[in-house]
Amino acid sequence: MLTGTGASTGTAVGPVAVMSPPPALPERRPQAVDAAAETARAAAALERVADLLQERAAAADSEASAILGAQALMARDPQLAANIAKEIEGGEPAEWALDTAVTGYQELLRSAGGYLAERAADLDDIRNRTMAVLLDAPMPGLPDPGHPFVLVADDLAPADTAQLDPATVLAIVTRRGGPTSHTAILARSLGIPAVIACVGAERLADGTPVAVDGDTGEVVVRPDAERVEAAAQRAELRRKVLETSVGPGRTEDGHSVKLLLNVGAEDPDAAGAHDCEGVGLLRTEFLFLDRETEPTPEEQYESYARLFRAFGDRAVTVRTLDAGSDKPLAFADQGEEPNPALGVRGFRITRAMPRLLERQLAAIARAVDATGARVRVMAPMIATPAEAAEFAGLAREAGLAEVGVMIEVPAAALLADRILEQVDFVSIGTNDLSQYTLAADRMLDTLPGLLDPWQPALLRLVQETGSAGERLSKAVGVCGEAAADPLLALVLVGLGVNSLSMSAPALPAVRYALARHSLQACRDLAALAVASAGPEEARAAVRAAASPEVAAL
Ligand code: PEP
Ligand code: MG
Repeated sequence: MLTGTGASTGTAVGPVAVMSPPPALPERRPQAVDAAAETARAAAALERVADLLQERAAAADSEASAILGAQALMARDPQLAANIAKEIEGGEPAEWALDTAVTGYQELLRSAGGYLAERAADLDDIRNRTMAVLLDAPMPGLPDPGHPFVLVADDLAPADTAQLDPATVLAIVTRRGGPTSHTAILARSLGIPAVIACVGAERLADGTPVAVDGDTGEVVVRPDAERVEAAAQRAELRRKVLETSVGPGRTEDGHSVKLLLNVGAEDPDAAGAHDCEGVGLLRTEFLFLDRETEPTPEEQYESYARLFRAFGDRAVTVRTLDAGSDKPLAFADQGEEPNPALGVRGFRITRAMPRLLERQLAAIARAVDATGARVRVMAPMIATPAEAAEFAGLAREAGLAEVGVMIEVPAAALLADRILEQVDFVSIGTNDLSQYTLAADRMLDTLPGLLDPWQPALLRLVQETGSAGERLSKAVGVCGEAAADPLLALVLVGLGVNSLSMSAPALPAVRYALARHSLQACRDLAALAVASAGPEEARAAVRAAASPEVAAL
């Protein structure tokens, strides 16, 4: 058995398919080169890649097919072939010529800006695939064994995760990755069980059967029939129980806890597909993550208006751009920083680029006017009451009525009462609040224990914020990943939180857990967790005291 960190709930059994990393240039470079033969070898490799992409395009649905088809065309771009041939004539072997020519081509596209600049990133994939053909190495990228599989990788880039199809990827096991990395968040949003930071995952070979438990972090290699049966039974029980979990969030005694959705990429079906009371976190930066230039006010307006319309009369909470650190945006780049998580990110970018936020707020306000939607706006990475007041001023000036901020920095949690005097609501981002409270980089895979959202110190800060909300009768939500853990959700409610926002697959289990505990029971569980010596003790104490049906899920 291998163990890692459970990062996305659920169990699955299936054969491994390994995702190969992009091949690197060999250390030794051949001396003499037969230019004609090398050029022919490079051309054949590009042609092979174009054929492969076209085959996949033919098998894919229409949107993916268009993207793959466009990539096949890029592999056949005569300019790329000419650039490679030129490098080979200068004495480079095909692999090195490919690398230099692609890099040069990317620089050219980037300097052209706009649409062309966005195509630069696509060339990485062409380079990696062509390099694999030239070196006779395994093809990088998502495997396609022709049957459902457990995906095993060193780590997944957000772009890889975005292409995952939950119908064929039964579970994900990665060697690296932190529990609050954006890759883990995306896996959760797709509802695929995942174990990350799994020691020994690199030894798993294609076709090996494994049983993956995304809650305990266990990966059993060649499971026996009994374990396969137990995993299937648990999955079935879970499915049945959760099917009956519908409607607004309520504790057993009827106390309302709004159950909201975290939304990233524009997903026009999200509103209809999920039983939720609105959006608790629209990560607007995800709409623009791969953009080299700032989206125009018109584009922003259209994108927001589409989403607002889809949610009808359910409130949508829009977070203004949270660029920087682990979410770099080319058009909001603040240059090299030795410690980007402590640098100019989130709301702080307003200091350097005030117009960026003004344009975004204006586009949101315009979309509100056009749709009549109920929209709340909030700023990320607020550290002081003065920053909260500044943001509230800007948002209200733009015509937005309901204004809040995120509590992601310990300083903001400690002064939550003074911050709440400036705004209408707050939403706690437990992912960043963990990293700043425990001084552990959320991108690291070496410190999962410190980043555990059950850390009592983190819960104390939630308590500080929750009680401030209760005293001032203002709404306090949680939109970090902690809200998606059914047992921890009970604790958060007991600490004074009145809305929970999470990725869609987590909603039914949290709703189910709430309905089986009174508000007082949640308060008792919260007291147990806060008084615990550490995260493991907190989790065990709450599991033992919670309703057994919920603990067994
Ligand atoms: C958080 O920090 O908890 C949060 C919700 O924001 P993000 O994960 O996008 O940084
Ligand atoms: Mg955050």
